[in-house]
Amino acid sequence: MLPAAAALLLATAALPGATSTMKSTSAAPSPAVCALGKMSACGLPSSVVIDMSKVRIQRTDAEWRSRLTADQYRVARKQGTEPPFENQYWDSHGDGVFFCVGCDTPLFDSKHKFNSGTGWPSYWQPLEPAFVAETVDTSHGMSRTEVHCAVCGSHLGHLFNDGPQPTGQRYCINSASLKIMPRGEYEAWLLKGGTTGPAR
Ligand SMILES: [Zn+2]
Repeated sequence: MLPAAAALLLATAALPGATSTMKSTSAAPSPAVCALGKMSACGLPSSVVIDMSKVRIQRTDAEWRSRLTADQYRVARKQGTEPPFENQYWDSHGDGVFFCVGCDTPLFDSKHKFNSGTGWPSYWQPLEPAFVAETVDTSHGMSRTEVHCAVCGSHLGHLFNDGPQPTGQRYCINSASLKIMPRGEYEAWLLKGGTTGPAR
């Protein structure tokens, strides 16, 4: 399922359910976007970074409900939090890349995953900063940095400043917002994306 989903990537905006699925493009690329012909710091072909950062996916509530499981919907679309130590990836040591469950954008790499002891998958940096956006979350009487997918807006988790070096950051992410693609499949996907770019 994952390879097909990955192949769809942002083409999801123009595929099944597309009649009521909308996408829009922004003329202004993120500052984090690399120049054409270069590779981003994380190794994504710049064409992939640029094309994907332009796309914004919007779906109706009914579309989200049909695409996601109940847990995925509650976490990704309703700012929910899954229980620690009782989620898919907190203790995952597989080699691969974690994609957004809402739109198949690559968000985190297992190379940047560490054992935070919190019971949630934790990363010391995102795969590509342009794909992970931040907002201030003042719910529950706290002021925290919420992180979400920059492409489809799905809630991912929170960002803290008590992570390991080299960044000192801790992206505390809900497994329900992610799905892993094994390294080999990811590299094949990159080759494909690097030559054709994701659908616009
Ligand atoms: Zn997304």
